[in-house]
Amino acid sequence: MRLPTIPDLGELSGRRVLLRADLNVPLHGGEVSDDSRIREVVPTIRMLCEAGAGVTVCSHLGRPRGRPEAAFDMAPVRRRLGELAPDVELLENLRFDPGEEAGDPALAERLVAGHDLFVNDAFGACHRAHASIVGPPRLLPSAAGLLVLVEAAEILSLRRSPRRPFVVVLGGAKVADKLGVVEAVCAMADAVLVGGAMCFTFLAAAGHHIGDSLFDPDRLEDCRALLDGDLPLHLPEDLVGLGPGGRIGDPRAGGAVRQFGSDLPDGWLGADIGPGTAAFFADTIADAGTVFWNGPLGAFEDPRFAAGTNTVAEALAETRAHTVVGGGDSGAALVSLGLGGSVSHHSTGGGASLELLERGDLPGLIALRESAERLSLPTHEIDQRD
Ligand code: ADP
Ligand code: MG
Repeated sequence: MRLPTIPDLGELSGRRVLLRADLNVPLHGGEVSDDSRIREVVPTIRMLCEAGAGVTVCSHLGRPRGRPEAAFDMAPVRRRLGELAPDVELLENLRFDPGEEAGDPALAERLVAGHDLFVNDAFGACHRAHASIVGPPRLLPSAAGLLVLVEAAEILSLRRSPRRPFVVVLGGAKVADKLGVVEAVCAMADAVLVGGAMCFTFLAAAGHHIGDSLFDPDRLEDCRALLDGDLPLHLPEDLVGLGPGGRIGDPRAGGAVRQFGSDLPDGWLGADIGPGTAAFFADTIADAGTVFWNGPLGAFEDPRFAAGTNTVAEALAETRAHTVVGGGDSGAALVSLGLGGSVSHHSTGGGASLELLERGDLPGLIALRESAERLSLPTHEIDQRD
């Protein structure tokens, strides 16, 4: 894939750059509790500033509904950014304006006012055709930032030339969000290992009893079609269930915890993959050439149901395979085990990395390429890593 890069923008000295970043960080008690997304964009800011550009940063934060909300004020992010990259301005939360999520060109016009160039380094938002992602490239000479280049190259190389066996591990909550990805990775991977709440719609489609587990009746037919397809799809063969009266996240509410095969009795909720499945997933990861992991394999925030996710995280840390992790919750699981630094690439964008893996392109990247074409700016091949 070719993208315009910052050097393709030419002379930067004295130019005013609008930088779209993804500074959607977790906040606790009015402070940034994990500043990784801020730190990840600092190299791009530094590159622009050292070349003599003036930089205005913009980002969304949380999910305000198109109007200002104190809980999503940028002030804590601005404080942390100021420590890491002094001398840059940070605009107010983009999602305080309903035009952001609606993709309103008028908001893009207001954002670019007073700027000469646009840089998109918000990989985690590139799968959304929001105003600040697709609008500015129609108005200004535009380029991908350093983080977008690294993130996109990582995922594209998985699509193009993964070292085999290529193993994809998918978990997390909603099957509807990830069915397209399951289908796409089944065509490229040697094994697709499915756990998390999303496995229960598949298990139900395969004719198993899933008790009171989360599942999506609207996707039953789609799951059945995938299971009929002779694909490298692996479902759990054992499960950990939470019995009647129990509540996930609340051990004191009671409720028995027990292991089962692939069927759960009525009143029981599947909350984790079982130890046999976890061992099979870990062995498959150990023998892999490349692993992509998105989504916890169980309700891991509750220690009673963290074992499957922990086993997979440890296998990922130990394997000699090239390992790529996307997804806020899978990343949090790795970090909580002290394994954050042990994977080859940890994506800042869960949704964006999944969609790029599925489709091979993203609205934010398309907008940058079209911008370069329209203005006849040079571009660079970005996915040449082997
Ligand atoms: P990610 O952020 O890594 O992409 P998701 O947001 O899709 O992952 O899903 C994460 C959530 O899924 C976690 O909060 C986890 O508790 C929940 N989850 C995983 N497995 C189960 C399960 N079997 N039952 C209920 N919730 C689950
Ligand atoms: Mg999540």
